[in-house]
Amino acid sequence: MRYHPRAGDLALAAAVLLPLVVALPRLGWPANEAGDWLAWTGRVTGILGLAMLLLAAAISIRVPGWDRPFGGLARLWRLHHGLGFGAFVLLMVHALALALAAVPLGLPVAVEVLFPPFSRGVIWLGWLAWLAMVLFLAPTFGFFGRPRYQAWKRLHLVSAVALLLALAHALPLAGETWPWWLLGMAGLAAIAWRKLGSRQARLAYRIEAVEPLARGVVELVLAPQGRRLVHEPGQFLYLTPLDKTLAAGRGEEHPYTITSAPADDRLRIGIKDLGDASHALQTVTPGSIARVEGPYGDFYGRHPSGRHRLWLGGGIGITPFVGGARDLVARGVVAAQVLLIYLTNRRERAYYLDELESIAERLAGFSVVVHDYLERGALDVAFLVEHCPGFAEREIHLCGPPAMNAHLMRLLTGQGVPRSRIHSEVLDFL
Ligand SMILES: Cc1cc2nc3c(=O)[nH]c(=O)nc-3n(C[C@H](O)[C@H](O)[C@H](O)COP(=O)(O)OP(=O)(O)OC[C@H]3O[C@@H](n4cnc5c(N)ncnc54)[C@H](O)[C@@H]3O)c2cc1C
Repeated sequence: MRYHPRAGDLALAAAVLLPLVVALPRLGWPANEAGDWLAWTGRVTGILGLAMLLLAAAISIRVPGWDRPFGGLARLWRLHHGLGFGAFVLLMVHALALALAAVPLGLPVAVEVLFPPFSRGVIWLGWLAWLAMVLFLAPTFGFFGRPRYQAWKRLHLVSAVALLLALAHALPLAGETWPWWLLGMAGLAAIAWRKLGSRQARLAYRIEAVEPLARGVVELVLAPQGRRLVHEPGQFLYLTPLDKTLAAGRGEEHPYTITSAPADDRLRIGIKDLGDASHALQTVTPGSIARVEGPYGDFYGRHPSGRHRLWLGGGIGITPFVGGARDLVARGVVAAQVLLIYLTNRRERAYYLDELESIAERLAGFSVVVHDYLERGALDVAFLVEHCPGFAEREIHLCGPPAMNAHLMRLLTGQGVPRSRIHSEVLDFL
């Protein structure tokens, strides 16, 4: 898949390079000796690796709106993951290259470079940081299987130890320390905000109603208890239910797409039973309080083009389109035509469909087509051409299970739709 840079990416790239640019006059260029090259590579990878590690922490801050220059929170999390993984690899190369650089001076020297006397505590701090990274960060990359979500989150938090140790290793060795203070403070402030500050910024909502939509799917209606959340269609929030009778997930934050129109004074979210917490929410007590944090995401984008739209939604991935359709009703106008293809296994199990079809009857410019998997097999070009002949010229939004998203992405790009015109959301961050 081709990479499309966003404004935030450029700022991030500049921040990654900052410590290296500041250090370069002191580092100079290596002579032609292999040992010099290796030592230089060891230093450069150390500087870049630590900058990436600190920035991976910094962009995990999660402040509503800050994700949009990066194309939404899901994309920001992918950048966070990429930076963390890149840092891990570079810091491995850092230790290896420095050791190899000393080999021409003899094995004992190489060993002493890597494992100096304990009096050189600064090197041992580097080793401890490396160990903390292997212990706490490596499992979050799924090297040892897919971690459970809550365990994955706890591992992320303790990996802050690696950050502190790596900074303590780098600061005494650096010529100019200010870039490290800057990035270090940004990384640590982000972690502190996530753990302490963000809770204070959550809004209180009362669960007013729990409306069943299908087996294992409900819609929660939430009434603000003070300041209300301001959002756009297709965005999502983090919901932390506080109902004491919940069998699971009490006090836990989970992301859910907002299905109400921004103009609605109630918030609505559709919840599918996909695990412990979402199962318990099916019978959450009306009247209980939930905390809401957000909004996040950039599904429809801030600068919509004048092109007609094609929306492709399936499973619980229909929720951003429900929010989009309700917004069109609230506005009463459809500036560009919208065709929603609802991908389902069985028509009678397609929740929200009655409401979406009734909107299509009332609202000129908005239409709905159902694609029944059991009847027609996977969605193909013939279906698209039949129902949406000019599909390749439209702005396309798709949201569904990962396999569905991947299939549609292949199908569309295979038909020459540029990647920049396909906007997708996967309802899974791991
Ligand atoms: C941007 C986004 C929007 C979403 N919108 C909706 C929606 O409108 N309706 C809906 O029913 N579901 C939605 N989901 C999925 C929903 O967040 C998960 O189903 C829910 O968190 C599962 O938690 P659980 O404890 O019930 O299940 P678990 O068994 O704990 O988790 C099932 C899977 O859900 C994911 N998950 C679990 N907890 C979290 C978390 N806190 N943050 C991110 N992912 C998590 C993990 O991939 C996990 O493998 C959305 C997810 C994302 C990322």
